[in-house]
Amino acid sequence: AQQAEKREFQAEVRQLLHLMIHSLYSNREIFLRELISNASDACDKLRFLAIDKPDLLGGDELAIELIPDAAAGTLTIKDNGVGMSREEVIDNLGTIARSGTKRFVEAMSGDQKKDAQLIGQFGVGFYSAFIVADKVSVLTLRAGESEAVRWESDGQGEFTVEPSFKTDRGTEVILHLRDDAREFLEDYRLRAIVRRYSDHIGLPIRLRKDKGEPETLNQARAFWTRPKSELKDEDYKQFYQHLAHDFEAPLAWAHHKVEGTLEYTSLLYIPARAPFDLWDREQARGVQLYVKRVFIMDKAAELLPPYLRFVRGLVDTADLPLNVSREILQGNRTVEKIRNALVKRVLDLLDEMASTRPEDYAKFWATFGPVFKEGIVEDANNRERIAKLCRFASTVQAQAQEVTLDAYIGRMPEGQTKIYYLTAETLAAARSSPHLEGFRAKGWEVLLLTDRIDEWVVAHLHEYQGKALESVARASKDVESQIETPEKAQLEGEFAEVLKRVQSVLGERVESVRLSSRLTESPSCLVAPEQGLSRRLEEILKRAGE
Ligand code: ADP
Ligand code: MG
Repeated sequence: AQQAEKREFQAEVRQLLHLMIHSLYSNREIFLRELISNASDACDKLRFLAIDKPDLLGGDELAIELIPDAAAGTLTIKDNGVGMSREEVIDNLGTIARSGTKRFVEAMSGDQKKDAQLIGQFGVGFYSAFIVADKVSVLTLRAGESEAVRWESDGQGEFTVEPSFKTDRGTEVILHLRDDAREFLEDYRLRAIVRRYSDHIGLPIRLRKDKGEPETLNQARAFWTRPKSELKDEDYKQFYQHLAHDFEAPLAWAHHKVEGTLEYTSLLYIPARAPFDLWDREQARGVQLYVKRVFIMDKAAELLPPYLRFVRGLVDTADLPLNVSREILQGNRTVEKIRNALVKRVLDLLDEMASTRPEDYAKFWATFGPVFKEGIVEDANNRERIAKLCRFASTVQAQAQEVTLDAYIGRMPEGQTKIYYLTAETLAAARSSPHLEGFRAKGWEVLLLTDRIDEWVVAHLHEYQGKALESVARASKDVESQIETPEKAQLEGEFAEVLKRVQSVLGERVESVRLSSRLTESPSCLVAPEQGLSRRLEEILKRAGE
C-alpha cells in the first residue's frame, strides 16, 4: 500500500481558502449547502454509472446523512454515492488548477451574500468547509474499488493523502468544527439550514441522533415532480439558485407536466442577468436532461435552439432511453418534439411577461434582446411570434428599445403601407441620418436598428402582419412620389449640369446621381439600389473579409 503523502495546495487554492475563511464569515452556513450538493452529485453520478453496471448500486437506497458528534466536536456529512479514487481525491481536492478557482477569486465582489452564491457557480464549494472547520478529513471509497483513501488538511497550505480503511462505498466529510462554530452541532440549526437551502434535493437527507430513529430533514422528492399547488414562489427561486448558481432571482419561470403521447416534465427559467459567457459561441449551453428522475446530462443543447440559450432549467422525460447519449439526441424525433414544445413554452412565458409585467419584460429585453432576435433568422416557424415580442428604438421613441411592431402599425397614418427601418452603428448616427428627412417631413415613423444582428433580422423578416418591411435607404420613391410636382421637371433641367459633373467625379463608385426632393435639410445622401445589399450589410461583409 502507498504511504501517507504530504502535498501542497496549488497556489490559487491557497489564496481562495484564505479569502473564503475571512470574507464569508457572516454567511458561513452555506458550507452545508455546498457539501450536501456534492453528496447529492455523487449519488447522481453513481445512479448514472449503474445504468450500465447495476452491480455498482446493488440494492442500496441512496441517501445523505448528517452526523453531529458533540463529544468529538465534529460534524460528518456522509453519502453512499460514487466516492473517489486516490487520484480523484488528489485532483479534485487541491492540486490540479480547476478553471473556476482563479475566476472565483477574480469575481469576488466583497459583498458576502453575492460571494456566497458565487462559490457554487465556480465549482469551489468543497473549500467552504474551512469556513467552519479548522481541520477537514475526507474518507472515501470509490464504487467498485477496494482501497479507501483518507484526505486531511487544516486549510493552511498542505494536505495529506493516505490509504485507509472503509468497507462501504461513498464519502464521509468530517468537519472538526472551530470553537465558534459549535452551533452546527445542534439539531435545530441543521434542520433549519437544510430546509432553507437543500429542501429540493431529490434524496433523503437524514439527521442521525444519539437516541432514537434518524430524522429525515427534507422533502426528498425531486423538486419538479412535486405538484405546482404545493410550491411557492420562494421554492421556485430557491431551486433556481441551486440549479443556476445565480445570486439574483429569476425573472420568470414555467413548470409543466405533460402526459399523453409525449411524457415529460419541464421547468424553465428566464434569468435576470446574463452569464459572463453568453456571447462565447464555443460555450456549451442548454437545459439539464433527466430520464425518469435520473440525471443524464447538463447543457443538453438539442433541447432548445441557440436563440433561447439564456433559458435555464431542466426536462425530465420517460420517452428517452436511460442510456441516451449526445449523439442519440441529435436528430432524434422525440427530442425534436420536446424541443418544439419547449420553444412554445418559452414564447408563451415571454408573451405573458410582456403583457402582465412590462417592466420585467423591459429588463429581459435589455439583457437578452440581441440573442432572442437571432430567432427571427433561425426559427422560420415562429418568426411572426418572435417578431411580435421584439422591441425597437424608433424616431418616435429613440431613447430605448421599447417600440413593438404592433404599436408601430397602430401609429401608421393613412397613406403609409410599409414598416420602415434604418440600420446604423449607433443611435446617434441613426438619428442624424439624412435618409430620415423625407420621412420626418411626412410624419412617418422609422425603426432605428443598431444591434449587430439587425441586418440579418431585416434580411429575414420581410413582412409583419402583412406589412412589408423596407429600408429607408431603398424607399426613396415612397416619400417622394407625392412631392412629385411640375417643378421637378424644371428643376431637373436646371440641375442637369451639376448632376453630370458629380457623376463624372464619382465615376464607377456610384450607380447614378439623381435629383431628389426627399431631403429637406441635407444637400445630398447615398441611396442603396432597390435590389442589392444594404450599405451596412456591405460594410459588415467587407469587414468579415468577403
Ligand atoms: P463542484 O461540485 O462544483 O465540482 P466542489 O469544490 O464542490 O466543486 O467539489 C470538487 C470536486 O470534488 C467535485 O467535482 C467532485 O469531483 C469531488 N467531490 C466533492 N465532494 C464529493 C463527494 N461527496 N463524493 C464524491 N466526489 C466529491
Ligand atoms: Mg460542489
